[in-house]
Amino acid sequence: MTKTLVFKFGGASVKDSSAIKNLSEILRNRLRKNMIIVVSAMGKTTNALESILAEKLSLKDYSVNSTKIKDFHFSICSELFPEAHPIFAQLQNLFSQLEQELLSPLSQENYDEYYDRIVSYGELISSRIVSEYLCAQELIVVWKDAREVICTDSDFRFAKINWEKTKLTCQKSWKPILENFPILTQGFIGKDAKGRTTTLGREGSDFTAAILGTSLEAGSVTIWKDVPGVLNADPKLFPNTSKFDELGYKEAAEMTYFGASVIHPKTIKPLANAGIPLFVKSFLDPEASGTKIHESAASHEIPAIVLKKDQILISLKVTDFTFIEEKHIHRIYEQLQALKLRVNMLQLSAISVSIVIDAHLFKLDQLLSRLQSEFEIRYNEGLELLTILKQKSEEIPSLLQGYEVLLEQSTRNTFQAVRRKVETKDI
Ligand code: ASP
Repeated sequence: MTKTLVFKFGGASVKDSSAIKNLSEILRNRLRKNMIIVVSAMGKTTNALESILAEKLSLKDYSVNSTKIKDFHFSICSELFPEAHPIFAQLQNLFSQLEQELLSPLSQENYDEYYDRIVSYGELISSRIVSEYLCAQELIVVWKDAREVICTDSDFRFAKINWEKTKLTCQKSWKPILENFPILTQGFIGKDAKGRTTTLGREGSDFTAAILGTSLEAGSVTIWKDVPGVLNADPKLFPNTSKFDELGYKEAAEMTYFGASVIHPKTIKPLANAGIPLFVKSFLDPEASGTKIHESAASHEIPAIVLKKDQILISLKVTDFTFIEEKHIHRIYEQLQALKLRVNMLQLSAISVSIVIDAHLFKLDQLLSRLQSEFEIRYNEGLELLTILKQKSEEIPSLLQGYEVLLEQSTRNTFQAVRRKVETKDI
């Protein structure tokens, strides 16, 4: 039997009816049995569901937003399907379930589990629409619920994969279907041992594609994006970018670690371990070659620029006139881990530890309250973390022009700066 191929289509590739039509055109000559198509929620649906949760949590009226999401999906469907198509009843059903779920109480305590139950609807709804549309185009796919095979722990919102169980279930229940049909499924979602819905972290659908690819020993995984491939910087933020034709797994992993959003950071490792190539291709130009990420990529010296927004710089000073020791760092990391926060940059001085983390709802307050008895804490919000890999020092000043630099760090290969735009006042 030929090897499984995995295609992943993100939110932008299913953001409206013409995007979905384009997706079906991409599949017209490529769809075959033994293929898995992974789709994300449509456009910005996950953000919109997050807004509903935030409103509900602060006891505000979320009905305007929930009507917006419903209208958005129904209007896409009315452009894709005739009035009598069964998709409309399916959608109605899914939205009724979602509304029902939203009636149960939400608090800070049950937030993570509740979040996973609610945001998973984005993927459940979009996969239904795409699968029905493909079938209507005679591109026959079997819709499957990813929660059948993606087995995780109960770390809601950041669930870890139970690889053994996932692989076993994939092989046992999906492989036989794949022998005859392509499967269409959702990214991002899984289930824990008790059957509760979990999610793999924002933008986690790439990771789903890698999990399925690894579990089914795929020939390759392809991520379809709105960019020509992996670029050396985000074209929305920096001019004059260049595309990598190929990248080694290690280089690609490093770029994603520092925040390159083109691929989810967890995607590379399982594929690298299994030696499965990852292609990043443009859904706007499907015939173009894109980027191939694989073991034997030729090395290059092109610097890569990665920008992470919404960063918080926290400085923790010891209060007892001692110096920073291992126990202080241990204590800080213990609390960060308990709050599931990752350090994006760390700098030590004799009496203080500076860390840079992503901004997350509630987390800063929780961290401060856990550590304020032991440290004098200062923090700055709304910052950006700029990382340059394979840096060329002559290029750095122009990237910092117009910015105040709060923290800077440089190694032979990597330059990092925490920056804040300097407000210019009109005279
Ligand atoms: N829909 C989810 C998100 O927006 C997962 C994904 O698109 O990869 O984060």
